[in-house]
Amino acid sequence: MILFGQLNDHAYNDQLLGIPNRLSFVQSIDAVIGVGRKDDTIALIDIDHFAPLNDALGHNYGDMLLAAVTARLRESLPPEAIIARVAADAFGVLGNDSIVSPERLQAIFRSAFRIDNSDHQLSVSIGLARLTEIDGNGSDALKCTNIALSRAKEGPRGEFCYFVRDMELHTRNRVRLLQDLRAAFDQDRLFVVYQPQIGLATRRVIGVEALLRWRNDQGRFVPPDQFIPLAENSGMIISMGEWVMRTACLGLRKFQREGIENLRMAVNVSVNQFRHPQFLASVDAVLKESGIDPKLLELEITESIAMLEYEFMLGMINQLKSRGVMVAIDDFGTGFSSLSYLERLNVDRLKIDRSFISQMTQANSSQRIVETILQLGHSLDLSIIAEGVETEEQAAALHAIGCEEAQGFLFAKPLEVNDLLAYIKSTNT
Ligand code: C2E
Ligand code: CA
Ligand code: CA
Repeated sequence: MILFGQLNDHAYNDQLLGIPNRLSFVQSIDAVIGVGRKDDTIALIDIDHFAPLNDALGHNYGDMLLAAVTARLRESLPPEAIIARVAADAFGVLGNDSIVSPERLQAIFRSAFRIDNSDHQLSVSIGLARLTEIDGNGSDALKCTNIALSRAKEGPRGEFCYFVRDMELHTRNRVRLLQDLRAAFDQDRLFVVYQPQIGLATRRVIGVEALLRWRNDQGRFVPPDQFIPLAENSGMIISMGEWVMRTACLGLRKFQREGIENLRMAVNVSVNQFRHPQFLASVDAVLKESGIDPKLLELEITESIAMLEYEFMLGMINQLKSRGVMVAIDDFGTGFSSLSYLERLNVDRLKIDRSFISQMTQANSSQRIVETILQLGHSLDLSIIAEGVETEEQAAALHAIGCEEAQGFLFAKPLEVNDLLAYIKSTNT
């Protein structure tokens, strides 16, 4: 009898925290759905950055933190609310809409937790689902709440998000899109286009940026803003990014055989690719295979990559520089890095983000930002290119304030190889 009681306890209660576990939580949701109570809401509360915290401060500390959170939830919520541990660092709460609200749950975490005589401030991300939005059983309901939680975590941490029906559809679509993308990549149905980069003084093409394209089975173009994040999350970006770099460098070789010398090839590198231990080896392999002068290869990394741990970045960029490869900071101005920081990192070029350029001729503030970037950048020996130049007015304004290079629809859209060759031949004569 005691044994049965213990087994039962193990099956339905979290042994560390002494509260219901995931299985028991799902049964409670089932019970609520079973009696047709619709004015209940499920919440999943996920402690932000718990895993690194646990690693850094020790599991003991992590356990104490979880116990403190459990106690705080218990004393802050009325006894009829069900509180459960549903994952290592996530709690489930089930109760009436008026109790289980994001404002109320977030307030619970506003003051610090006292652990081992020191205060610890936590932030949490919250996913919520109202039972009225859910078709199915307790386990389906928890899945929906999880979808909302993932969505909450996509933004800056500390956010909340309610589940709505088309999110599920959205998730299903994403799974399908990822499968299609993988098939397209395996079957060589992705391709690379090249957008010219222009010297503003001469109006000649001095470089190109390689941009990945995917036309799906229905002949529709899927924008890279949609599929690159998918590739990034699934790890496919590692092989895909290397493929783009190889295709671009072999492409450059081809342009050289057509008599186009000294053209620079810019390739976008995503964060997981850059952080991958084999990244430098893949750069070496591509340089060797294509035989291009490394100085003609420019890797574009975003400001957020540049802000990764300083020592790591410095090491990586120095490794690239020792091979002669150039580094540009993409979408510059949208992040929070300072110019002097980037100069210390030894980068070569800044690409001023399109948003500043499109505002330039309308808003004085944008014009001033661009001028400041140019002045400071030049004083630090960084070269500067403007992105998204669409009008002659913008090009003229940029030239007047000393910007040497530009890229944008005014000059050319991203072009397929043959169109690019024709464009360069007609522009650079
Ligand atoms: P990005 O690196 O900022 O690339 C520039 C984007 O701006 C391109 O969009 C280009 O077509 C667009 N663009 C160029 N000139 C103009 C203009 O004058 N006006 C406007 N409105 N847009 C202009 P695209 O090709 O759709 O690429 C979007 C993003 O996808 C890229 O932004 C880049 O972050 C990512 N991406 C594309 N190819 C790759 C790749 O091979 N690897 C990685 N990691 N990311 C890629
Ligand atoms: Ca870019
Ligand atoms: Ca950009």
